Amino acid sequence: MLELIDIHKSFNNNEVLKGVSIKVNKGDVVVILGPSGSGKTTLLRCINFLERADKGEIILDGMHVNVRTASSSEISRIRKKTAFVFQSFNLFNNKTALENVTEGLIVARKVPKAEAIEIAKRALNKVGLSDREDYYPSKLSGGQQQRVAIARAIAVNPDVILFDEPTSALDPELTGEVLAVMKQLAGEGVTMLVVTHEMSFARDVANHIVFMAGGVVVEEGPPEEIFTNPHEERTKQFLSRIL
Ligand code: ADP
Repeated sequence: MLELIDIHKSFNNNEVLKGVSIKVNKGDVVVILGPSGSGKTTLLRCINFLERADKGEIILDGMHVNVRTASSSEISRIRKKTAFVFQSFNLFNNKTALENVTEGLIVARKVPKAEAIEIAKRALNKVGLSDREDYYPSKLSGGQQQRVAIARAIAVNPDVILFDEPTSALDPELTGEVLAVMKQLAGEGVTMLVVTHEMSFARDVANHIVFMAGGVVVEEGPPEEIFTNPHEERTKQFLSRIL
């Protein structure tokens, strides 16, 4: 479904990604773990060209793209096949929950308005917010805002949803409702690539863990292996500090 091959990215002279390769199969939940500053967010942002990587290849649904030379039409095709859920929700504050979900469908994907509204209502229902369709973000809790953002992501029916620390801006009591929605989507076979520090989610929901540090993949494997029998010293250190 999604393959990243040898992705490199520097900011000025700071090489943040030093050749990262990751594979996400259809229906997979892949969780990227690692200490802060290891390049996890940058990697996600390079996938849908919020940042342009310096070198490497992205294969998405059979489409091969050289990240350095990707044309605007290739970038737009990648963006249509992916959706991004941000740490800070990134909703339009002057639009209702429903309008936040319909906006991308109508403007970017040219879905007729009536159809967009139907799709958006279904998506909001799926994240448990049918009764909040007409609320503006300022009237919603952080957890509800993030669920609107997830509804917006699923509404476009992407090949893969990219989650960038989706619960790290939330109070602990609101984290659970967002993780529950993500777990439900995972159960429905939605393909997800998730950067998170939520170890219980990683352990229970992921079928593959990628541990990154210093801009490289240090170790990867199924959660039961990474959590109970990590091979690399850096993985052991990270897990012993966080668990
Ligand atoms: P992580 O998500 O693992 O915490 P990030 O990808 O956010 O790591 O950051 C990796 C490194 O890249 C950090 O040193 C950060 O300061 C640097 N970095 C990220 N974005 C930028 C940017 N836009 N300009 C300059 N440096 C950046």
